[in-house]
Amino acid sequence: MTIPAETVEEIRQRNDLVALAGEYVELRKRGQNFLGLCPFHLEKSPSFTVHPAKQIYKCFGCGVGGDVFDFVASIERTDFLGATKILAARAGVQIKRLPDDEAKRLRSERKRENAAASKLAELERIAFFEARENCHQLERIRRLAAARLRRIHHGDAERFQGEADLAWFALAEVAAQMPKAAAAYSLMAFAAINTRIDFALHPERRERLIQDALEAGYVSNEQGIRHEVQL
Ligand code: ZN
Repeated sequence: MTIPAETVEEIRQRNDLVALAGEYVELRKRGQNFLGLCPFHLEKSPSFTVHPAKQIYKCFGCGVGGDVFDFVASIERTDFLGATKILAARAGVQIKRLPDDEAKRLRSERKRENAAASKLAELERIAFFEARENCHQLERIRRLAAARLRRIHHGDAERFQGEADLAWFALAEVAAQMPKAAAAYSLMAFAAINTRIDFALHPERRERLIQDALEAGYVSNEQGIRHEVQL
């Protein structure tokens, strides 16, 4: 928990060190300052001094010193936060819950970022499997068409002319689509993360990325290592 600086300042303003220290030590005015027996060490003659204008204390016997927060922290054996709470309660200052809200906001921001990151990873994963499946699908079609053509060659070519035409058509389709599919798969499998994310998130940019990969004949990763686009 972090207390806003202006709250700390308000607490300081509303807790007079002379009055506060006077609750623990009998203080007598000596010149501009107040003097008393040090509450932090045993002494017979007073060396504990409080400066009302500066709102600080100093013991010339044991050397301790500080402001109103240090005094409360030392005498109540707590830390700055504990002293701040004591002094806030004493002066009737409400410690704003702003830090908690801020922490909450940061937590939910991190949560959103994590959600966005996993959403991104999910989209990238989907694009990868789509690209791979696309290649596999085309490869299956190619094999089916080739197998069909082989069977037709061994049989009655005229009787199966329609089927043969379909098989040739399928092969032509595969040949036309395979380069792009292979480039897309190479991009999603081997390109640098930024390229993969670009591809996954922006379908409108895929054509450009694919064309670039086809023209180059390779995709490269973060280390500049090239992976050939294989058809
Ligand atoms: Zn002392």
